[in-house]
Amino acid sequence: MGQQYDIIIIGGGHNGLVAAAYLAKAGKKTLVLERREIMGGAAITQGLHPGFHCSTLAHAVGPLLPQVLKDLQLTRHGLELIEPPVRATALHPEGRAISIYADTAKTVSELERLSAHDAARYPEFEACIKRLGRVLAPLLTLTPPTIEKPTAGELWNLGKLGLKFRGLGKKDAFRLLRWGPMAVADLVAEWFESEILRALVAARGIYGAFAGPWSAGTSTALLWQAALSGEALGPATIVKGGLGALAQALGRAAVEAGAEIRTQVPVAAIKIEDGKAAGVVLASGEEIAARAVVSNADPRTTLLKLVDAVNFDPDFLAKVRNYRSTGSLAKVNLALSALPRFAALAGTSDFERLSGRIHIGHEIDYLERAFDAAKYGDYSPRPYLDITIPSLLDDSLAPKGGQVMSINVQFAPYKLREGDWHSRREEFGDAVCDLLSEYAPNLKELTLARQVITPFDLEQEYGLSGGHIFHGEQTLDQSFAFRPLIGWAQYRTPIAGLYLCGAGTHPGGGVTGAPGANASREILKDLK
Ligand SMILES: Cc1cc2nc3c(=O)[nH]c(=O)nc-3n(C[C@H](O)[C@H](O)[C@H](O)COP(=O)(O)OP(=O)(O)OC[C@H]3O[C@@H](n4cnc5c(N)ncnc54)[C@H](O)[C@@H]3O)c2cc1C
Repeated sequence: MGQQYDIIIIGGGHNGLVAAAYLAKAGKKTLVLERREIMGGAAITQGLHPGFHCSTLAHAVGPLLPQVLKDLQLTRHGLELIEPPVRATALHPEGRAISIYADTAKTVSELERLSAHDAARYPEFEACIKRLGRVLAPLLTLTPPTIEKPTAGELWNLGKLGLKFRGLGKKDAFRLLRWGPMAVADLVAEWFESEILRALVAARGIYGAFAGPWSAGTSTALLWQAALSGEALGPATIVKGGLGALAQALGRAAVEAGAEIRTQVPVAAIKIEDGKAAGVVLASGEEIAARAVVSNADPRTTLLKLVDAVNFDPDFLAKVRNYRSTGSLAKVNLALSALPRFAALAGTSDFERLSGRIHIGHEIDYLERAFDAAKYGDYSPRPYLDITIPSLLDDSLAPKGGQVMSINVQFAPYKLREGDWHSRREEFGDAVCDLLSEYAPNLKELTLARQVITPFDLEQEYGLSGGHIFHGEQTLDQSFAFRPLIGWAQYRTPIAGLYLCGAGTHPGGGVTGAPGANASREILKDLK
């Protein structure tokens, strides 16, 4: 074995970098090993066409935990967050649009054009989500309790949460208990009467999920969003320079704290000696020793591919194999010579309305039908699209006048019933652009370059098992004390000295930095 480290982190995704920065700040000799040529994992910026750069995968920040931003001094390390004035604009195929603004009063006057009922209900809904979010927010930075034998500390933390819950009052407390298991379509129907607003809000419940709005438990995602941002429709905050600039800032914070980062070094295996993690073996054959190994790779990759199965109890392995991680989201990125004209915005290029998320999927039934295709092994011909045009607010991404458009497409199943993603990639890209052209008729003539990333690519190129953008479904049975598995939600694994720190751990996916921060806290307790 070569040089000895305290900690090796497998993977330089944003959570791996957050963990590295905290661990190095605590004085641990930390090494990050990233298999790709750049850091960031799903939070990266790459060239799309000469002069055009795009957040290749994730396009808006989680939001990032404020504590991480502060502790790691990310602003000093060059991070610049940009919050658009509009949260989201939903486009109707018949040429109407509604926008949800950061400013509630503006949203209300917008909704008055749509429905007096919804305009009156929206501020009430927002206030309720804020109150529930305040109760749930402490969960984000809490290590989930061990279910079998909770420690005194864990019981104390849960007790504090219980008190906050009681403080909610009866009406909100019942809402909180009732909403989690509900289908998000039912939840929005209780609040709003217009289909387009229902669909816009409900879409946050199915984002990245293998689920339609009528699937049970899809309201949970709305509650997590409330915990993170205090809103049901959180801000589509972008990073100047794209999401890769966040990874750069985190990398600088980690290196300043003393961590070492190496790229283009895939880890082939985790070395186990006497039942304890002892280091890693690289694909090159090089071995590196460490007192602890922390994996930022997803749970299935870490536990099924990087560790020899003989080290685990068969029951545990069966549970890991049952951990659901089948993706349903694909990405299409476009380099455009100009901003397209949207029919729903009266053919104008309404800068402000296009500055947040642009939502396509105007009815609950539309979203459900989009999911139907994926259930039966095909991509949806009329998918739900979550679009951003970050170059509207960040001129570093495209030459003057040009734009980059980042499109999350649901649904696109990991496995196609007919053919494969290799042969059907461009046909899929065409279907997305055809649909979008119905809303922005001049889109195709403005397109200079197109990048299509399928769930299969997410697995092969970006290392996401099953192509799942969140390292595994975020359903109730795979959240909090069940993430990734019941009994193993404390960032530890059955192997002493082997930890998980990625989106497959609590509180899950999204560019938040929370799993990395929480994991580092637990690791430091053990390495004292
Ligand atoms: C297409 C797409 C769109 C998304 N959109 C959004 C969005 O708009 N907003 C949002 O908040 N979230 C979004 N997400 C989700 C979010 O990006 C992820 O949940 C989050 O970035 C995961 O971060 P992570 O650090 O836990 O893992 P990752 O970013 O997956 O990082 C894991 C790292 O480990 C590396 N690795 C894996 N195996 C090895 C190995 N054997 N050796 C060395 N290195 C290894 C990988 O290369 C990778 O760099 C999106 C994700 C995708 C894919």
